[in-house]
Amino acid sequence: MLRELARAKINLTLDISGVRSDGYHEVSMIMQSIELADELILKKIPHGISLAMDATRIDGGENIPADERNLAWRAAVAFCEFCGKNFGVAIELLKKIPMAAGLAGGSTDAAAVIRGMNRLYETNLSEAQLCEIGARVGSDVPFCIVGGTCLAQGRGEILTRLNPMKNFSVVLAKPQGEISTAWSYKTYDAQPAESHPPNEIIIELLKHGQYSAAFKCFANVLESVALKKIPAIAEYKNKMLAAGARVALMSGSGATVFALSDEADVDKISASIDDSAAQIFVTKIFG
Ligand code: ATP
Repeated sequence: MLRELARAKINLTLDISGVRSDGYHEVSMIMQSIELADELILKKIPHGISLAMDATRIDGGENIPADERNLAWRAAVAFCEFCGKNFGVAIELLKKIPMAAGLAGGSTDAAAVIRGMNRLYETNLSEAQLCEIGARVGSDVPFCIVGGTCLAQGRGEILTRLNPMKNFSVVLAKPQGEISTAWSYKTYDAQPAESHPPNEIIIELLKHGQYSAAFKCFANVLESVALKKIPAIAEYKNKMLAAGARVALMSGSGATVFALSDEADVDKISASIDDSAAQIFVTKIFG
């Protein structure tokens, strides 16, 4: 039996440069792990896969399938296929990351199962092999396997490790309403962004600890798309910045807004979101 933490991610930047012939979007994103995590316990069983999920702590958790459609389950299948073995695994999953929120809640569970099964069955696969399995499950899964701070390119699976970020506090504010990733990218294609985050410059600034300058350049091209559906995103950003956030931005395809701040400002930033429909989480950069 073993325990794995499945940490959520935020996008410090998200850029799209086009649609590829295979239908995937070509992206360039600076990804960051945070401490907010789902918890998994994996146990060896003689054969087959089982999943016991407790999603009662998150809004809408009852809509996450606890069967072969779950990304944790799909990851176990992909792991067995890659190894050509019928490994049996019983997965217990405690959900804490809000769903359909731009925080890679499902992808990170898949990553934790892949890492965990490699330990459970002592298969000694390399990180590159684990990422290869992960990419078959979803584009964000390889990053969730590696974690920390990375530039993700291609469809998200080509990773370059970056210098770890300073241990900023993170306040997450998830407005009411969900954004489907597919809808977001489709809407973006009809009206692509004119300005793009300067990822190379941001990486240099982060490398030299020039955080204030880097924060000014953070951007997510899917934010204007999400705003059409959930105008509260702009309101939350403004309130968090006015309350002392060093930077505030939407993560992934939304709709969660994150603020990076010094620890002393966390309470003020959390309290600034006076929308009773919002879900607030206080966490930290992980890396
Ligand atoms: P991303 O940032 O990668 O776009 P997200 O945080 O927006 O991800 P998820 O929380 O991963 O979105 O959930 C998206 C969908 O995946 C939901 O419709 C949910 O039912 C489904 N799903 C399947 N398995 C899981 C899982 N283990 N946890 C959460 N959602 C899951």
